[in-house]
Amino acid sequence: MNNARPKQHTPLRKPVVVASKKPDMDVHPVLAVILGDQLDIDARLLRELDPARDTILMMEVAQESEHVPSHVQRTVLFLSAMRHFAAELTRRGFNVRYVKLDDANNTHTFSGEISRAVKLAKPARISITQPGEHRVRAMIAGLNGEFSIPVEIQEDEHFLTPPATFAAWAKGRMSLTMEYFYREQRRRLNILMDGDKPVSGTWNYDHDNRVSFGKAGPTPRPHRPCTFKPDAITRDVIKIVAERFPRAPGRVEPAGETFGWPVTRADALVALQDFIVHRLPLFGPYEDAMWTDEPFVYHSVLSPMLNRKLISPRECVAAALDAFEKGKAPLQSVEAFIRQIIGWREFIRGIYDLEGPTYAERNSMRQFGKLPDLYWTGKTDMACMNACIGQVVDRAYGHHIQRLMVTGNFALMAGVHPREISDWYLAMYADGVDWVTLPNTLGMVMHADGTGKRTSVVGTKPYAASGAYIGRMSNYCTKCRYEPAKRHGESACPFTVLYWDFLRRHRARFEKNPRMGQIIKNLDRFGEETVTQITISATKIRLELGIGDIDTPRAPKTDHSRDDYSTKLVPATQLPSLRQLPSKLSHTLSDTLFDATKQEAARRVAVPKKATAKRPKPR
Ligand code: SF4
Repeated sequence: MNNARPKQHTPLRKPVVVASKKPDMDVHPVLAVILGDQLDIDARLLRELDPARDTILMMEVAQESEHVPSHVQRTVLFLSAMRHFAAELTRRGFNVRYVKLDDANNTHTFSGEISRAVKLAKPARISITQPGEHRVRAMIAGLNGEFSIPVEIQEDEHFLTPPATFAAWAKGRMSLTMEYFYREQRRRLNILMDGDKPVSGTWNYDHDNRVSFGKAGPTPRPHRPCTFKPDAITRDVIKIVAERFPRAPGRVEPAGETFGWPVTRADALVALQDFIVHRLPLFGPYEDAMWTDEPFVYHSVLSPMLNRKLISPRECVAAALDAFEKGKAPLQSVEAFIRQIIGWREFIRGIYDLEGPTYAERNSMRQFGKLPDLYWTGKTDMACMNACIGQVVDRAYGHHIQRLMVTGNFALMAGVHPREISDWYLAMYADGVDWVTLPNTLGMVMHADGTGKRTSVVGTKPYAASGAYIGRMSNYCTKCRYEPAKRHGESACPFTVLYWDFLRRHRARFEKNPRMGQIIKNLDRFGEETVTQITISATKIRLELGIGDIDTPRAPKTDHSRDDYSTKLVPATQLPSLRQLPSKLSHTLSDTLFDATKQEAARRVAVPKKATAKRPKPR
């Protein structure tokens, strides 16, 4: 590991943000609308309100849990975090109009609830932070013609990159490469820089961060993320969601024993500290590794809180830099985490904004297969898919390499319609929001976001891999009935079969790609009989899974109103029970960051036992 220290580090600069329309501070009263993924207590919107005159509207509308199916834990997390946030605003003296899911007059649409609030509050203007999702932005834009008062849209200061900054970076580039954007971010924000050069002279440690666990598995066992015992608000939400959405996918126990997500900013800050102290040091080298019964490995599991704005990317970066500067985490891991926060996350959001609402309709690989039912249940004899989807059903969580190289890889190679798998990621993960899942899925996972002469926007080649990759990076194959090295036949690994069939199907496209030429040559060495057998095996797999015809154009399935995704009959995997809080939390980070919140959070947090085995040396 590289433990080089920065010669000097200047504080993280806040980006310059300009509101889309200059607010007239003297015009009151204001109706300020706060959505479920805008729970930012430092938002500019709040700073500009007058608690004595203005009203904040927050609303739980069924439409948001039904336009795609929504995992019960995802819905509970949204609603519980919103209720806690509203309570905090009230405590700070704001006048909050909070419309609950079971309120008798709830119209269950954003526009209906804003309309009701306007009639009651009679505001002089409506103010809202720019929504993340194109669909909601269009709805807000539509309000301008509906009321005789101005609708002011504030830029979202949560992000490090104003849309204009991203657009200026992207302008005139033939291809948008994340690595170049990331380097520009490092320079612009002055993070891990030594003058004009990256600290230690290396921009990234990606090449070193592909270590697998070997036969012994992760040693010591990864420290699982701390869980938070549901309070009365969360338990109430769990009950309401179970009654209102009985056919929703995923699992949550009625009493909340299996729901441990942070639902407040205080919880989220403790979760951040928990990652920095216990998992960040080994995050880098093992970020691509997978292991049975280790659903989190060394990942941060912070994205559900980040995407709801309970914590900010600035806090995450500051905490990681603090650990690095105090010698608590190596550069190899700190850089990897910071790259996800200031690089990939901001890049994906920039792409979503830049490409616009029609991005969702792209399908440049022209694959039209149905999403198999196993994605909703995890019921399959493929051990890797069973493990990765099973934990999503139980926990609404999977780390990025499970998403990219198992569930996503399978959908890509099987020929699933990119919009159907994208909607699945949006529906099933606690961190699912459209601006994240769409470019990650359409672009990175499905390699389907090309348009016109551009074959792709996000990636230069598809992340397709055979069972050999999964065998190398996990222990899933050791307990599987399939053989990862076999290319066809009954016992052949479906990943391996579909991998070669995928290359065969898209041969004409890939042979022109300089990064894939060698792989196509390998396919060409097989001979006609082997390729025919692979084609037969792949067709059989698709038939058995109900994927159907992958070549005939069809619209993706978007109406889920009659589907029952509940998985009550699938035996629950054993989740760890919530444990008691140790007498003392370990604090190695700046007390300033946590002082305001740690006492409140400490009353509710339960932290898993500390591992005692020695930490392995990364290879
Ligand atoms: Fe997955 Fe294939 Fe390995 Fe089975 S053999 S776990 S299907 S990669």
